[in-house]
Amino acid sequence: MGFEIKTENVFQTIELGKKLSECLDKNDIVLLQGDLGAGKTHFTKGIAIGLGIKDMVTSPTFTLMNEYRGGRLPLYHYDMYRISTDDEIYELGLNDFFDNDGVCVIEWNVFTGFKSEPLKVDITIVDENIRRFCFSGNQRLINKLKNIL
Ligand code: ADP
Ligand code: MG
Repeated sequence: MGFEIKTENVFQTIELGKKLSECLDKNDIVLLQGDLGAGKTHFTKGIAIGLGIKDMVTSPTFTLMNEYRGGRLPLYHYDMYRISTDDEIYELGLNDFFDNDGVCVIEWNVFTGFKSEPLKVDITIVDENIRRFCFSGNQRLINKLKNIL
């Protein structure tokens, strides 16, 4: 079963990302859904910090994918807002990192061909500073995360 947790400010969202990072192994895929301003990129910052990545995480809105090295695992941070089909992903070679050496975190995913089950994170804006995180999908990751929260 999935579970829900609320954060009350951006720092708690970054902390939650750091906690999730401790659970991640190579080939894990995290899908982030939620409106603009929900906190997808800040949650990813937390994952990057938790992995020990020193670079500043910025939104991949225009680059489609940003790659971060130097941490426990490479981090591939996607934003698929401008993509609509699996074919476009294959044509751009964006699928190269899905079963590779690191962790993929994908904002606004559209891809349907993942070989392992992704962890889905739905973020809802409750009010100005409160966000509800709903975790579903990959049960192994959900269980690991629940155990350390
Ligand atoms: P997204 O990538 O989903 O568009 P961002 O992470 O870029 O969202 O931005 C989230 C915005 O919401 C930031 O300006 C952040 O300061 C603000 N914010 C307020 N409360 C929270 C919270 N609890 N969690 C995350 N962000 C929050
Ligand atoms: Mg974003």
